[in-house]
Amino acid sequence: MSLDHRLPSELAELRRTVEAFAHDVVAPTIGEFYERHAFPYEIVREMGRMGLFGLPFPEEYGGMGGDYLALGIALEELARVDSSVAITLEAGVSLGAMPLYHFGTEEQKREWLPRMCTGEILGAFGLTEPDGGSDAGGTRTTAVRDGDDWVINGSKCFITNSGTDITGLVTVTAVTGRKADGRPEISAIIVPSGTPGFTVAAPYSKVGWNASDTRELSFTDVRVPAANLLGEEGRGYAQFLRILDEGRIAIAALATGLAQGCVDESVSYAKTRHAFGKPIGANQAIQFKLADMEMRAHTSRLAWRDAASRLVHGEPFKKEAALAKLYSSEIAVTNAREATQIHGGYGFMNEYPVARMWRDSKILEIGEGTSEVQRMLIARELGL
Ligand SMILES: Cc1cc2nc3c(=O)[nH]c(=O)nc-3n(C[C@H](O)[C@H](O)[C@H](O)COP(=O)(O)OP(=O)(O)OC[C@H]3O[C@@H](n4cnc5c(N)ncnc54)[C@H](O)[C@@H]3O)c2cc1C
Repeated sequence: MSLDHRLPSELAELRRTVEAFAHDVVAPTIGEFYERHAFPYEIVREMGRMGLFGLPFPEEYGGMGGDYLALGIALEELARVDSSVAITLEAGVSLGAMPLYHFGTEEQKREWLPRMCTGEILGAFGLTEPDGGSDAGGTRTTAVRDGDDWVINGSKCFITNSGTDITGLVTVTAVTGRKADGRPEISAIIVPSGTPGFTVAAPYSKVGWNASDTRELSFTDVRVPAANLLGEEGRGYAQFLRILDEGRIAIAALATGLAQGCVDESVSYAKTRHAFGKPIGANQAIQFKLADMEMRAHTSRLAWRDAASRLVHGEPFKKEAALAKLYSSEIAVTNAREATQIHGGYGFMNEYPVARMWRDSKILEIGEGTSEVQRMLIARELGL
């Protein structure tokens, strides 16, 4: 089967629209939010008005009727300019709304999705705990049934979008029982913001993604109605594996955008910065760096689009999503390092976008499954 990676006209149009938004609205202001470690509410509101939070959801829930390819296109274009706004969209859609769309009851979908699709509220996904993220089966947070309620105790860490003024809910994984073999039975439960006993800590001080919201959460005798269970009891582990498989495609698109942004910035810098009487871009050593950076970004784009295309067509995509996430995150780090090098001392100054890209690149090898976890998944898919 031959693959056609050219975009159909509606996706090409979406790409141009988001590119213009990133260039005209995000680029001029995001650096200041980043410096202040502040969440860019007005930019996020505008992204909501544009329908970006509803891209892969059907119109009946307030979405745009698109799919994961559309989401990836938007993420890539945003991340070419800034990763904080891109991860806010990625987490809001892939981790916040998608679990409700895939596993929620009709009532849960109608209650939450329309406001999530417009960006009026953000959802978060609480899987990682202080004692472990990669080994998500080791969840310690518990939820015990008491009459018509679930009573939740425990904590979650590093949760994106969980403490903004517009955060509406966090879906948390919790141990709700034991299987016959003694392993924990995990379920996912919706906890609305403001539920008594649900505490959101101050934002972390992070190396990168400084204009995005990341918090530690704690739950002390938090009571939510039994109806807040997401999908079937005991299916939480399978649910989050599916969510993470899909999310990897989104992170790969985001990483591709960062890698391409490094090329964009470095090419224009190499043309204008002079050393030894000529533009630094006239040196073959710099040209080769840029050629390699472009090659990596291009290959990364093919990888995430291939995984997304498989997902959209209902084909197996687990291995391709892991390959795309692993490759794109590692080349994003490489491109960011090279872009900083090409910028010399200015590349180490925060006012230059490549400095932000360098800071923002490392987390891509960690979040939504570390590079080691991706290698484990790929090896497993190879039958090892
Ligand atoms: C900014 C940010 C935002 C995040 N957002 C969210 C979010 O919204 N929701 C959420 O649930 N989580 C979120 N996370 C958590 C993230 O997904 C985890 O940090 C990640 O999965 C790794 O888990 P860990 O930090 O506990 O590392 P650990 O699992 O403790 O791993 C530590 C190291 O050991 C390696 N390792 C572990 N097991 C093995 C093994 N078997 N073989 C080889 N190496 C291994 C890992 O690859 C890693 O290098 C976020 C994290 C950050 C930093």
